[in-house]
Amino acid sequence: MAEERKIPYKIYLEENELPISWYNVRADMKTKPAPLLNPGTGRPMTAEELGGVFCADLVAQELDNDTPYFPIPQEILDFYKMYRPSPLVRAYFLEKELGTPAKIYYKFEGNNTSGSHKLNSAIAQAYYAKKQGLKGVTTETGAGQWGTALSMACAFLGLDCKVFMVKVSYEQKPFRREVMRTYGASVTPSPSMTTDVGKKILEAHPGTTGSLGCAISEAVEVAVKNPGYRYVLGSVLNQVLLHQSVIGLETKAALDKYGIKPDMIIGCAGGGSNLGGLIAPFMGEKLRGEADYDIIAVEPASCPSFTRGKYAYDFCDTGMICPLAKMYTLGSGFIPSPNHAGGLRFHGMSPVLSELYHEGLMRAVAVEQTAVFEAAEQFARVEGILPAPESSHAIRAAIDEALKCKETGEEKTIVFGLTGTGYFDMVAYEKFNNGEMTDYIPTDEDLAPGFASLPKVDYKG
Ligand SMILES: *Cc1c(COP(=O)(O)O)cnc(C)c1O
Repeated sequence: MAEERKIPYKIYLEENELPISWYNVRADMKTKPAPLLNPGTGRPMTAEELGGVFCADLVAQELDNDTPYFPIPQEILDFYKMYRPSPLVRAYFLEKELGTPAKIYYKFEGNNTSGSHKLNSAIAQAYYAKKQGLKGVTTETGAGQWGTALSMACAFLGLDCKVFMVKVSYEQKPFRREVMRTYGASVTPSPSMTTDVGKKILEAHPGTTGSLGCAISEAVEVAVKNPGYRYVLGSVLNQVLLHQSVIGLETKAALDKYGIKPDMIIGCAGGGSNLGGLIAPFMGEKLRGEADYDIIAVEPASCPSFTRGKYAYDFCDTGMICPLAKMYTLGSGFIPSPNHAGGLRFHGMSPVLSELYHEGLMRAVAVEQTAVFEAAEQFARVEGILPAPESSHAIRAAIDEALKCKETGEEKTIVFGLTGTGYFDMVAYEKFNNGEMTDYIPTDEDLAPGFASLPKVDYKG
């Protein structure tokens, strides 16, 4: 125990140890992630084409596969200082509860009002929009974390923020919606009658409760049609993973400071931004042959993009107006069964992580909802933090790995990303506590229509 005590419960970095650059893992990848394609021409999207939808500086970050470090602008650093560095916590109580010889750490990103890691990229994207002299930004939100984070960032910088919120969440999470409005955003349930693509989707699927793919189509349409507006996205894109690298850089700096080398790094994966950010510097070492880590993406069994998806070019949205991305995907036509981890319901996955997974540099597991909430409650009771359902996927996998160590006696060091808090997810917890939560794993027949919706693309690079 004497050795243990040398490592405090919370590992904080001093303020001046906040990373001053983001790390771009693409710079160390031998095979770069496949480029976004123009669905009209089948050719890679140019900066000019992307510039009609996204802010100019963000387009440059999106397309840059070679620059390893991007200095973080001072204004963003100042904002980060309000809630960063985020704590890296040794889960002593969870270890004791499990009786495992494994050492478990979690990097907690729920320490800001928006309640998740999404703020790390929201402030960056809002900053570049402001710098470009834009009036505002449009976006989609599923469970609401991204919309909340973006509203906060836009309020801080005095930008207008129009959020299309997946209808089922809009109805189920009125408080989340109200937080966004409190920060000055306008929130429209999607699909809506306010856009052409929304009308089309409603005609084809009357009574639909929406999906992230639909909401993206609507937000893009509004950005393209309104001068002074651009569209921003909270995950999947290369630029978002770049901003989220602040999570991994801090984690690595803190571990290095205490001389700890992790064996495993675990994170939940929706579009891949928190995981991509958490693993970035570790994956960089792995790619450069300097170290090895067992890296695990955890996804819901109800939306298994990595474990059951295809690595193919696909649309990012239901309306098929966005560029094509090569990624592990269930097809843009896939509508997942209702699952309480709204942030993990996207049909595709970050092209960066998709390529790394394809090359066998990381692995993935799919977990079922009730098992996830069991882990969430076990964690909440001993560690105190009420985790988001999305984050609890990582908790599930970390607990499972720690229990394997108990069997084998291995003293592995496990680091996982605790991406956010679950205060707006109490309906899900209520279902679980009432024993009403169900698990739904799609059959191959359920997945078939999504795969059938994949576009035929013969881009060879
Ligand atoms: C959005 C979200 C996720 C999933 O998104 P990624 O881009 O895969 O990180 C995970 N956890 C929380 C709390 C979220 O809000």
